[in-house]
Amino acid sequence: MSGKTETGPGAAGSGTAGSGVEVLSARDVPLGGPRAMTVRRTLPQRARTLIGAWCFADHYGPDDVAESGGMDVAPHPHIGLQTVSWLFDGEIEHRDSLGSHALVRPGELNLMTGGRGISHSEVSTARTTLLHGVQLWVALPGEHRNAARDFQHYAPGTVRLDGADVRVFLGSLAGETSPVRTFTPLLGAELRLDPGATVTLATDPAFEHGLLVDEGEVRLSGTLLRPAELGYTAPGSTTLTLTNASDAPARTVLLGGPPFEEEVVMWWNFVGRTDEEIRQAREDWAAASDRFGEVAGYPGDRLPAPELPTTPLKPRGRVR
Ligand code: MN
Repeated sequence: MSGKTETGPGAAGSGTAGSGVEVLSARDVPLGGPRAMTVRRTLPQRARTLIGAWCFADHYGPDDVAESGGMDVAPHPHIGLQTVSWLFDGEIEHRDSLGSHALVRPGELNLMTGGRGISHSEVSTARTTLLHGVQLWVALPGEHRNAARDFQHYAPGTVRLDGADVRVFLGSLAGETSPVRTFTPLLGAELRLDPGATVTLATDPAFEHGLLVDEGEVRLSGTLLRPAELGYTAPGSTTLTLTNASDAPARTVLLGGPPFEEEVVMWWNFVGRTDEEIRQAREDWAAASDRFGEVAGYPGDRLPAPELPTTPLKPRGRVR
């Protein structure tokens, strides 16, 4: 389901205020693995594939790991994208075919580049009781989509604004700039708003933005967003105004970037440009090609690729 989505800026429909904010609702998706935990996915969806180069947004928790079983995603491949792990609570053990073995912790960015091919596993650690965070993907632009495997870690400091704490993990906001390299201009930041606070942030007018609400109810330029909703704003604004409409702290993740002008073909864990490329990547994974390398230390088998549809995969692009 695509939720109560307006058709975008200028839409005369009911529901969403005339502020040009498009409200994207999440759908529940079981994550891969034998003990599938459920995530709330807001990107991609029928109404919108990308926000900047952000092409995938999964939001999960707070989950009691004793009930949900936690996260256990066996080794699986990626091409054409970067994965961004950002936690609010809990801890995830990351292993990849670059040889990285890292613990993903709250407030710390883990950015994995799987250009031509990488594989990784993600497992919540035994000491995790609550698991809560986001998993995001960034599409690589055509000229860099076969980039070498890479893994970066960055723990941003907290910027205190009047009414909010901001942590900028990618790009620039509130006078803070992340040193982490990206292949297209991007913004990724966690914002915690004090109860009732209103914050106006200077933004790049070339960027479109998506505000994902984790906790609380937040007005984005006048439009109320509830937990798990993603509010989209088109390029052209030099500011964004956020108001915490609840009487408790609110937590959000702000994503942004200039509109990604290329069409992409997305299937399973792959971002490509053609049906043929995706089929080749699937075949390479099925054949255990060294394109994806090996993940050492995961106690179990790797994930098999699902069956491809018999009809060609179609490219998707931004909504104009
Ligand atoms: Mn993955």
